[in-house]
Order: sequence, then structure tokens, then C-alpha cells
Amino acid sequence: MPPMATLFTRIINREIPAEIVYEDDHVVAFRDIDPKAPTHILIVPRQEIPGVAELPDSGDHLHLLNAAKKIAEQEGLTNGYRLVINQGNDGGQTVPHLHVHLLGGRSLSWPPG
Ligand code: AMP
Repeated sequence: MPPMATLFTRIINREIPAEIVYEDDHVVAFRDIDPKAPTHILIVPRQEIPGVAELPDSGDHLHLLNAAKKIAEQEGLTNGYRLVINQGNDGGQTVPHLHVHLLGGRSLSWPPG
């Protein structure tokens, strides 16, 4: 039996609806269902990498930052934004498919909780 597709792979495959705002050969980006800022987008590699702790030497994750830059421009985030990757339990990761949160549209406090 092949392993179950992750929630985000099911979104990428259009099995679960989401508002997709960007895609290319390596990544797909869609709006977070529970936004923490006026703009809250998840950027996901097509490859099912569980998290930063499991990063291979090469693969779709190498394209995440370039996609983030493009999406931030597309979203008009000219005043800045934040990219977040939650890793594991202490990092608050809930979906075991690597993703970058792109947050913007308001001033974000530091440090995070
Ligand atoms: P993390 O906690 O870093 O693993 O982030 C997972 C994110 O996925 C959370 O911000 C959730 O709100 C978001 N999320 C969960 N289910 C969906 C969904 N069906 N569509 C869009 N975003 C989702």
C-alpha cells in the first residue's frame, strides 16, 4: 500500500478545495484556512517532504524562497512580510508536509509566542 497522501498533496491534486494563488513546477501556494494576518499564504513543495528535519540535498524545497518573493510581489506586500516554517512539536507544526507561511498586510510583532 502506498503511504496516504498528505492534506497538502490532496490540495495540490485538487481533491480538497483551497484558494490557490500561485503554482509552478516545484511549489503550490494557497491561502491558509485560518489566517493569522490579512495575507496568510502557505507555500508547499510538490514533493512530500515531512519537514525541515527531513530535507533532502536537492528537490522542490529549493524553490520555496523564490516562490515566496514572487507571491509577495503578486500580493502587493511592499511594506514587508514574514516567512515562517514551523518544525516538529515545539515549533508548532501540525501538517507533516513542509510548508512556508507567508504572512503580511499588518505589522507583525517579535518575538513570536
Ligand atoms: P503548521 O501548523 O505550521 O503545520 O501549519 C499548518 C497550517 O495549515 C495552519 O496554519 C492551518 O490553518 C493550515 N490549514 C490546515 N488545513 C488547511 C486547509 N484545508 N486549507 C488551507 N490551510 C489549511
